[in-house]
Amino acid sequence: MHHRHLGITGLQVPIVGFGASPLGGVFGPVETGEAAQAVAAAIDLGIDLFDVAPYYGLTRAETVLGDALSTIPRDRYTLATKVGRYGADEFDFTAERVLRSIEESLRRLRVETVDIITCHDIEFVPLEQVIGEAVPALHRARDQGKARFIGVSGLPLSIYSHVLDQVPLDTILSYCHHTLFDAGLAEQLPYLQAQRVGVINASPFAMGLLTAGPLPDWHPAGEDIRAACRAAADHCARRGASLARLSLQFSVSNPGIPTTLTGIRSRREVEQNAAWVAEPMDAGLLAEVEAILAPIRGRSWRSGRSANS
Ligand code: NAD
Repeated sequence: MHHRHLGITGLQVPIVGFGASPLGGVFGPVETGEAAQAVAAAIDLGIDLFDVAPYYGLTRAETVLGDALSTIPRDRYTLATKVGRYGADEFDFTAERVLRSIEESLRRLRVETVDIITCHDIEFVPLEQVIGEAVPALHRARDQGKARFIGVSGLPLSIYSHVLDQVPLDTILSYCHHTLFDAGLAEQLPYLQAQRVGVINASPFAMGLLTAGPLPDWHPAGEDIRAACRAAADHCARRGASLARLSLQFSVSNPGIPTTLTGIRSRREVEQNAAWVAEPMDAGLLAEVEAILAPIRGRSWRSGRSANS
């Protein structure tokens, strides 16, 4: 698996990383045996970056991932988790909760330190609290050796410059903004690179829209976006191709984006994703699919407070 530098952290991250939200059942049930096999296969294939959060499956994803990683030497993988989001509408970025949250995550993940700790979905709260309270608390946790690098995540791209203009960060985690119908993250790269921040991209399949599979009930996309993605999937199927394969190949193709997290449910998905990123992208198919998706280009959905989007 090809690796790239994550900003100036010194971390080398695989171009495709293991997103562990599905281990919490977010995309449907996953048995613990299947999760353990997926994690073991990922390590074997060099997919050695794992991203999780207390919110995923309301702590279940961290517990399942911690069990699966427990037999693997700690220096074989990079581990990222989050603080601040604990339910669909439950957020707490106070210093006390942030510090307690890290302790709880370390216990569930069965490690003494995480490599990256991220303030989760910050657009749902006043950004001043994240800057003034949560990030300083994470600096304390880092000084105590509980985390190595600090970042933020969320959907609206404007949150990144808002925060980074006021406080330096090691990483940002952006999702659904570097896909076959959204170039938003790539447009932000000059600014993010000037800030020397490590860019983590997530959701190359737009949380399932760019696969042939069914969507989870909670998916926020409107019907026009869904219909265009279905048309793209049908077109690929008629051509004997896979929209998911093209989507992942597109997402990892930008060398300015060090890593792309895909949500993983099974060993089969790990193996497929590792194989796909080693294969060349079909430029003709890419042009056809981009034409089908042109009507929804740059389209997204609302997330968080209107003041933050
Ligand atoms: P995704 O775009 O990676 O889609 C996940 C879906 O794709 C799942 O249903 C999965 O089973 C399926 N899939 C994976 N490999 C496949 C394959 N080879 N063929 C067909 N389907 C395949 O979306 P995601 O899971 O939301 O994002 C990836 C990860 O990024 C998450 O697990 C999480 O770790 C992280 N993330 C973080 C945030 C945040 O911090 N706010 C938001 C979104 C995602």
